[in-house]
Amino acid sequence: MKIEQDKFNSYVKKNVFETLNDYKLINKNEKIMIGVSGGKDSILTLHMLYQYRQESGIDFELEAVCIDEGICGYREHGIESAKENCKNLDIPLTIASFKDEWNYNLDDIHNLYKSTCMPCGVYRRYLLNKVSDSHKCDKIATGHNMDDEIQSFLMTFARNDQNKFPKFGPILNRIDKHMVPRIKPLWQLPEKDVGIWCIVNNIPIHDEECPYSVTSLRSDVKLFLNKLEENYGVKQNIFNSFKKTFKIPQKEVHLERCDICGQVTAKSPCNACKMTEEIKEIL
Ligand code: SF4
Ligand code: ZN
Repeated sequence: MKIEQDKFNSYVKKNVFETLNDYKLINKNEKIMIGVSGGKDSILTLHMLYQYRQESGIDFELEAVCIDEGICGYREHGIESAKENCKNLDIPLTIASFKDEWNYNLDDIHNLYKSTCMPCGVYRRYLLNKVSDSHKCDKIATGHNMDDEIQSFLMTFARNDQNKFPKFGPILNRIDKHMVPRIKPLWQLPEKDVGIWCIVNNIPIHDEECPYSVTSLRSDVKLFLNKLEENYGVKQNIFNSFKKTFKIPQKEVHLERCDICGQVTAKSPCNACKMTEEIKEIL
C-alpha cells in the first residue's frame, strides 16, 4: 500500500514539476500568491509549490489568499481547510471577503444574474488581483487542472468567444505592472488524479460542491465531458489537440485605471465597479 502511495505521489510530483520547469513558471526571488479555496485543486497546488520550493533549488516566497464570497454553509468549510493546510505548511494566509469590499455577500446577489458564477467570477478575479498586487506578488498560482482547461476551451466555442484563446496555457503573462500574471501548475494534471492524491495522502480538504455551480454552463460542459470520457476516453486527446493547435500569442492591450476604484482595467469603469453600480440600483 505504501509503495502504491509513493508511486502515485511521484507521478503527481513529476507531472506538476514538469509543468513548472518546462514553462519556467517560477523564477528566483519571485513572490508567489496562491489562490486557495480550500478545495482539492488549490490545496494540491499549495503542497506542490511548498515541495517545489524545498527541492527545486529556486529561492522564492509563498503566500496564500482565500476569497470569501459569502456562501453560507459552504465557504466556511473551505476557509477552515485553507487555514489548516496553510498553518501545517507555515504559509501566511490572507482572507479577503466580498462583504468587506462591497458590503454584501454572494448569497445576497445570487439571483440577480442568470448564472451566479458570473458576478462571483468578476468579483473573485478583482479581489485576487487587488490583494496580490497590494502584497507586491509577482505571480498568482491557481489550482486550474487539465479538466478545467478543457472545459474552458470548449466553453469559448460554445460562446463564440475567441478573445479568450490567448488566455489558455500554463501562464498568462504580465500586461501591466499592476495586473499580476497567473500560473497554473496543475495545467497538465487530470482532475481525477487530484482527488486521488488527497485521498491517498489523507489531506484535509473541503470537498463539497458549491450550491450555485449548477447554474453555470461549465457545470453542463463538465458533465458532458465526463460522460464522453467514460465512454470513449477523450479528455487527454482534446488536451493534446489543443496544445498542438492553439499557440496564439497574447495581444498587446492598452490598460487604464478605473475612474471609480483606481484598479487597472481594459476600460474604465472596471467590470467589478460596473457590476456594483448595477447591483446598487437593484438592491
Ligand atoms: Fe462562485 Fe460559481 Fe465557483 Fe460557486 S461555482 S464559487 S458561484 S464561480
Ligand atoms: Zn473599478
